[in-house]
Amino acid sequence: MLDDNCIFCKIVKGEIPSEKIYEDDDFLVMLDIAPASKGHAVILPKCHGADIFELPDEYLEKILKVARKCAAGMKKVLNCDGINILQNNGEAAGQTVFHYHMHIIPRFKGDNVNVGWVPGDSADNAEIGKKIREAIEG
Ligand code: AMP
Ligand code: ZN
Repeated sequence: MLDDNCIFCKIVKGEIPSEKIYEDDDFLVMLDIAPASKGHAVILPKCHGADIFELPDEYLEKILKVARKCAAGMKKVLNCDGINILQNNGEAAGQTVFHYHMHIIPRFKGDNVNVGWVPGDSADNAEIGKKIREAIEG
């Protein structure tokens, strides 16, 4: 199901142009319009779901294979030193388009891309770990 008011649904439908690098029955992969690095691509499921919680399982189950296929092609062409594969859920996590998508970001030694964090303190890991385990197990 696609959403008439969603920019990525419009791209999937071909109503908004994109620099497409791969497409199959379930996904369209395009270059990012404001790339973090040369070749930065975004995988769009051909189904509207705002984030990882809304996207149907069948897309989640298939998307990493698409990511690897595209990443392999990008690696050959760009000769990059590494690749980040990530996706954001929620504004606080940096999500700006609320149609689930996965970033494939080629990395080059010494580039200025920043997807890191400052290592923190694990003192409350046992406490929070117990709570999350219980939530997952129900
Ligand atoms: P996020 O911040 O994870 O929601 O990522 C959204 C990404 O979509 C950003 O990197 C944008 O540059 C990219 N983006 C937004 N609109 C377009 C568009 N029309 N074509 C290609 N990329 C887009
Ligand atoms: Zn959408």
